[in-house]
Amino acid sequence: MYATLLLDLDHTIFDTDASEKAAFEQTMLTAGVPEAAALFPAYQRINLALWAAVERGELLPGAIRNQRFERFVVECELDADPERMADDYVAGLGAFGDLYDGARPVLEQLSARASLALVTNGLGEVQRSRIARLGLDGFFDAVAISAELGTAKPDRGIFDFVFESLGSPPLDTAVMVGDNLSADIAGGANYGIATCWYNPNGRTAEPAHVIDHEIDDLQSLLALVVD
Ligand SMILES: [Mg+2]
Repeated sequence: MYATLLLDLDHTIFDTDASEKAAFEQTMLTAGVPEAAALFPAYQRINLALWAAVERGELLPGAIRNQRFERFVVECELDADPERMADDYVAGLGAFGDLYDGARPVLEQLSARASLALVTNGLGEVQRSRIARLGLDGFFDAVAISAELGTAKPDRGIFDFVFESLGSPPLDTAVMVGDNLSADIAGGANYGIATCWYNPNGRTAEPAHVIDHEIDDLQSLLALVVD
C-alpha cells in the first residue's frame, strides 16, 4: 500500500497516439504537405530516437521540439520550414487528445486518498496546455515536466524535484506508475521507489526490469493506495 503515487502522463493516462496523429495532420495541412499519413511513421521514428537520446542523457529534452522537424524535413526532402512545423505541432499536441476512458474517475479517487505527482518526459508548453485544458491541476500535488527542469526520467534529478515538491515523503511509501520501461520503471527503480508497469497491451518485459506491480487497467491503481 502506498501513500504517494508518481504518475506518467503520455500513454498512461493520456491518449498520446490520438493527440500526435491529429497534431501531425494539422501541421502537414498548414505546411501544404500532402499525404500526412504516409509520412507519419518517419516522424514517429525520428521522434522516438530523439527521446531515447534524452533518456540516455545525451540530449536536453527541450532540444527535441525543433530538432525532430529539422531531421524530418531533411529525411523526407520536404520544401517546408521546420521551425514553423515545430510551432504548429506543439500547439496541436496541446490542443488535441483526451484522457483515456475511465482515467478521470480513477484520478478523482486516487487524489482523495493519496498524494499524487505528475512526472512527465515532455515539453512544458505541450503538457501545461493539456493540464489546463483537461483541468488536471487539481488532482496533482506536484507536476514535474522534464523540459522545464532540464532532467528527464530515468535520471534521478526529476525524482529529486518531485520528492522535494511533495515535502520529502519516505521512499518506501511511494510508487512510480507508467507505461515506459526505460523511463518510468528504470527511473523509479533507480531512485529506490516501487514501480508499477501500466501494460494494457500485454507486452513482455526484459527480466532486468524491476517491476513490483503490473496492471492492465488504471482502475487497478486503487488497490495500491491506502484506503
Ligand atoms: Mg508514457
